[in-house]
Amino acid sequence: MKKKQFKAESKKLLDLMINSIYTNKEIFLRELISNASDAIDKLYYRSLTDKKVKIDREDFQIEIAIDKDNKTLTISDNGCGMTEEELENNLGTIARSGSLDFKENLKKEDAINIIGQFGVGFYSAFMVSDTITVTSRSIDSKDAFTWESSGADGYSIEKSERDSVGTTITLKIKEDTEEEKYSEYLDTNNIERIVKKYSDYIRYPIKMEVEHVHTKDDKEEVHKEVETLNSMIPLWKKEKKEIKEEEYQNFYHEKFFDYEDAMKTIHTSVEGNVSYTALLYIPSHAPYDFYTKEYEKGLELYSNGVLIMEKCADLLPDYFSFVKGLVDSSDLSLNISREMLQHDRQLQLIAKNIEKKVKKELETMLEEKREDYEKFFKAFGMQLKFGIYNQFGIHKDVLQDLMIFYSSKREKMITFKEYIDDMLEGQDKIYYAAGESIDKINLLPQVEKVKEKGYEILYLTDYTDEFVIQTLMNYDGKEFMNVSSESLDLDTEEEKESIKKENESNKTLLTSMKDALKEKVTDVRFTNRLKNHPVCLTTEGPVSMEMEKIMSAMPTEEKIKANAIMEINDSHPIAKKLKSLYKENPEEVSKYAQILYAQARLIEGLTLDNPAEISSLIVDMMAK
Ligand code: ADP
Repeated sequence: MKKKQFKAESKKLLDLMINSIYTNKEIFLRELISNASDAIDKLYYRSLTDKKVKIDREDFQIEIAIDKDNKTLTISDNGCGMTEEELENNLGTIARSGSLDFKENLKKEDAINIIGQFGVGFYSAFMVSDTITVTSRSIDSKDAFTWESSGADGYSIEKSERDSVGTTITLKIKEDTEEEKYSEYLDTNNIERIVKKYSDYIRYPIKMEVEHVHTKDDKEEVHKEVETLNSMIPLWKKEKKEIKEEEYQNFYHEKFFDYEDAMKTIHTSVEGNVSYTALLYIPSHAPYDFYTKEYEKGLELYSNGVLIMEKCADLLPDYFSFVKGLVDSSDLSLNISREMLQHDRQLQLIAKNIEKKVKKELETMLEEKREDYEKFFKAFGMQLKFGIYNQFGIHKDVLQDLMIFYSSKREKMITFKEYIDDMLEGQDKIYYAAGESIDKINLLPQVEKVKEKGYEILYLTDYTDEFVIQTLMNYDGKEFMNVSSESLDLDTEEEKESIKKENESNKTLLTSMKDALKEKVTDVRFTNRLKNHPVCLTTEGPVSMEMEKIMSAMPTEEKIKANAIMEINDSHPIAKKLKSLYKENPEEVSKYAQILYAQARLIEGLTLDNPAEISSLIVDMMAK
């Protein structure tokens, strides 16, 4: 019989499985049971629409059998089964792969992450078995087929026999090694424990023959009995106090394909105008596709324990799209269509409640577990920020108190409220500075003086941040003010008066500098705003230098330009030099203007249009 080779990615995943990088091997059983349960679901749904498919719900079951002599573990189901083609397609490739892109020399952690992201699936059975045999008969076929593989060297498929529709998977369990006792997977008690741990809520009975040893008249009697191992009660329908955190997390891992624990579990039951139970999770990291178009938000929707929709998007606002979980309500009709759901009042009520609940939980985390919240914010803060400036800010009131930004003073993340509570006497503005990183903002000339005056500055390091601030406009009546804005007004009346005079008396010097820079700046001035730095750029109007930088990196034709003003530190020796130079050799001033402007741009992290020209200007000056 001809051996077929696995597809390239499948082979790599297989290698990972066979070499057992995953320490938690017992989860293979959860994966196989979950596949069996899905297959039964499929057959059930099929029977709803296809009159020819006759089933009795009572018959559905998953069976586990252990054969100690032959060292096999068998899992069978009476679900939809697979055709020959399906065996080929489903088991010869990784089903969930999608855009899965395996790097050549995959590191161990990366591999675990990939496996976690995509769910370990059927192949995980190779962690514990030498050979896997799958015999399946599809609801759409009269014949059964057997797929078999011992791993890396490929698989075979041939025609075989099966009395009824369904799938039987037989695992030839590996021999024990020093590190790993594989024979545990042939132990009834252990299998029972694993099923209870991961698959207790599966809605179909998972049956296994269990041995009970009785002593009667000093003789041991072995009593064999088929038992149902799982309670079949969905986790969310159990009493909260009866559920261990571990169970919540196990459920989360399996259902939402995350290898990390969720950061927060929210289990809530509401009785009233609308009754429902919700089990929600806030993940601890963003899924790999979270910030792409492919990501679909939504919660599973159940009507009294029966799944009616896999991803109900209407239950979550876009800004909370990271929430995973499910809602179960007996108020929703089983036969409700997607279109009707959108207008369903009950559903809208539930959605409103869920939004409030999630917000409240996040606020509590922000208050009581700041470290967790910071981690959350790193992962999903961007989504909350989009939420603020999307749709012209209609949701800003919901979200503004969930924002945190780095504070220059406290050197950690703070909320707007915390900023306001600690403002200086007479301070009426919230100061902020934007840049690529905290270190880079710390080096901005404009920041120095504001800090020296004792003001706290919020550092904006995400490209979305300034849009957020501009959408908010103010917080609690306090206006936001960019420290690089031309309208930043920190001087005393006296200082203002003296710098005004200074600028007036040097008008011709400043005008000739501005003329030298042409349309690059709208003005050149002396300033008090700088402490040690010689020069900086400030901006007039809504577009800051940082925004210009972000916009020019975007792939649009139209480039938006900030209205830049070059400000020269009046107390820096360069100011004096310029004034005297202008008297002696006014021609030279334009070269100084070019170099100072270039310096100001470099400090802002902006590029130069004419680096060669600037370089030769500097060298000429050095050579003098
Ligand atoms: P996943 O379940 O995530 O899609 P798996 O690798 O576990 O990935 O399984 C691949 C596919 O094989 C499934 O999507 C399903 O179509 C099919 N499959 C696996 N087990 C069974 C089963 N017991 N009955 C029917 N189909 C199955």
